[in-house]
Amino acid sequence: MDIFDLTIHELHDELMHRRISSVEAARAMLERIKAVEPQVGSFITVTPERALADAAAADLRIGAGDAGVLTGIPLAFKDIFLTEGIRTTCGSRILNNFIPPYSATCYEKLKEQGVVLLGKLNQDEFAMGSSNESSAFGVTRNPWDTTRIPGGSSGGSAAAVAARQATAALGTDTGGSIRQPASHCGCVGLKPTYGRVSRYGVIAYASSLDQVGPLTRDVTDCAIMLGAIAGHDPGDSTSVNVPVPNYRAALAGGVKGLRIGLPKEYFISGLDPDVQKSMDAAIETYRRLGAEFVDISLPHTDYAVATYYLIATAEASSNLARYDGVRFGHRTEAAPGLLDMYTRSRSEGFGAEVKRRIMLGTYALSSGYYDAYYVKAQKVRTLIMQDFTAAFEAVDVMLTPVAPTPAFKIGEKVNDPLQMYLSDIFTIPVNLAGTCAMSIPAGFSAHGLPVGLQLIGKPFGEESILQTAYAFEQATEWHLRKAVIL
Ligand code: GLN
Repeated sequence: MDIFDLTIHELHDELMHRRISSVEAARAMLERIKAVEPQVGSFITVTPERALADAAAADLRIGAGDAGVLTGIPLAFKDIFLTEGIRTTCGSRILNNFIPPYSATCYEKLKEQGVVLLGKLNQDEFAMGSSNESSAFGVTRNPWDTTRIPGGSSGGSAAAVAARQATAALGTDTGGSIRQPASHCGCVGLKPTYGRVSRYGVIAYASSLDQVGPLTRDVTDCAIMLGAIAGHDPGDSTSVNVPVPNYRAALAGGVKGLRIGLPKEYFISGLDPDVQKSMDAAIETYRRLGAEFVDISLPHTDYAVATYYLIATAEASSNLARYDGVRFGHRTEAAPGLLDMYTRSRSEGFGAEVKRRIMLGTYALSSGYYDAYYVKAQKVRTLIMQDFTAAFEAVDVMLTPVAPTPAFKIGEKVNDPLQMYLSDIFTIPVNLAGTCAMSIPAGFSAHGLPVGLQLIGKPFGEESILQTAYAFEQATEWHLRKAVIL
């Protein structure tokens, strides 16, 4: 087995037994990145010197007997996480030359554990998109079929894990941006409960929805990563002071007697037959393992996409006001006055999708329309939350598809924003409700494309969905299949 094929826990074993050094692991990953990057394009910035320096420091810690499970593990980060001294673009031309003066808390926490930084990963511009095509730094291709999108907005994160260019990665999820790319690339991706992970130093898209989470090769790695980044942070007042359980220790409990809800609104007739087939097989597997299924309803599901595109764009229009060529971001070369300078800097710096969202959000917040759009959307959001609270009285977790279809073709939806928005129909309600959910590999389409399964948990129910996911992983082999790139 090649070093780049190993999971976090496998590589940790190798490092502990001194069969591999962290420097060797870092070199293997950097070579792998070089070899497959021309086909995949997961990275915006690769940091080889930094990786080798981090790895040398990790080897010293391992030698001194001071290593944790993440010491010496090569990771990569979506380019939305501030990394001190290392360019951070958020996939936008407007931040083309931005070098942050400080780092995101989740990166700091991982750094303290001794991880190795391989680089910064491609993403949709400001995390707005479902295909990675809105990045100002070119498309990322799906490692399973390079004519297809990897999903978005954490498309680089999912592609890098699937192409074995990083042992694991971090992404963010505002409406599905961890789970949907994880599903399309055949990895494990978890969006934690709102407030579980600090967003300090994470570039804001829609602040009432954004969450940070891991993309990994298997469920054990996901539990390890979540445990490392979760917890209260005085730097982010929305991070909640709830104790962080030992997620890894919770994995093995099994699903006997577990009540799994099947929301009828998520099993629609338009579902791709390959996705439906994988869902049916997964339900069968869970039945065999002793879980019980309960038919449930989340009656306001139909309104979720519209509600999300009012709230997310409203918050984005406010968050993105700071890129004005003065406080942050690209400044135009020549402008006759201050107002022209703002307008031109923003016109030159932002891409088409970001501009569309700023316009939609500004409109929804404008006086005269505020009550009809923004306030109405907030009310519907409450109804959607109540749907989840009520349904969770009868079930422990929910099982649904992640996306209505497997990965679509590059270019297929770029000119039809509504079609693109609808690809997140099954992931968006979870962000509106503020609860946790994950995507795990659950099969392949007839064309060999990965299909993910979504497990939705109660607020702060990460242990329970991880346990449910682990039982499935133990009983199946989907997560062991590898994308063949070279
Ligand atoms: N695709 C959704 C959007 O474009 C979700 C993105 C995300 O979760 N960051 O807003």
